[in-house]
Amino acid sequence: MSLLFHADHIPPNKAHQLCVFCHRYSINTVRENEGMGQQNNAKDTRHKEKMEGWTKYQVSVEASKKRNKDPPPKPDDPHSTSDLPKKLTQNPQKPGRNDIETPMVQCMCLTAYCLQIGTYVGSLCFAKCRLRTEGSAHHPSVVDENAARHPCSGASWQRCTCPICRCQCNKRYRIADIQQIAERQLVRSRLQLISKGEGTGERNTMSYLNRNGGIRFWAGNK
Ligand SMILES: [Zn+2]
Ligand SMILES: [Zn+2]
Ligand SMILES: [Zn+2]
Repeated sequence: MSLLFHADHIPPNKAHQLCVFCHRYSINTVRENEGMGQQNNAKDTRHKEKMEGWTKYQVSVEASKKRNKDPPPKPDDPHSTSDLPKKLTQNPQKPGRNDIETPMVQCMCLTAYCLQIGTYVGSLCFAKCRLRTEGSAHHPSVVDENAARHPCSGASWQRCTCPICRCQCNKRYRIADIQQIAERQLVRSRLQLISKGEGTGERNTMSYLNRNGGIRFWAGNK
């Protein structure tokens, strides 16, 4: 993974460009995704080859039943490497969610900051600390040079108020997990409201979470 946000590594799908944790347009795809397509295809091919053997076997099982013959021997596993090949004993499982590699993305906020407050000299902020123009369709990596800069604040203006410069998010997650993470975030923010006394029925919420196995969602901040 490159150290800094790079426009070439913005995920193509708009829905994946926003960080699900800090809600900034700070997402890059990571290098580990390269070659993933081939690996997944190879797994699919292996499954198809197993399926072929298994389907043939089932056809001959049916045929022997009709002729009241003994069932045929179980087929060899086409990928078995032992001298006495392993047998297929059941319908080969399709590669599941944990077998298929899904692309990872990374939030780049942590590595984006001002080197010299108040100037762009050596700035590592990919939005160059510009305010976003209202309704701008630009991805923030396309810096709108006409937009005003986030002001600096503090005693001697030492502090950049740009949210990207200040954000410490560097979360890395699977695109396939976005939905689940978002739901977890929602649960967490509701629990925060409850703990501040701004919600009612805490016990109901907790038992709801327990019932639905949701308790683990907010137990650990990955
Ligand atoms: Zn983030
Ligand atoms: Zn800044
Ligand atoms: Zn900035």
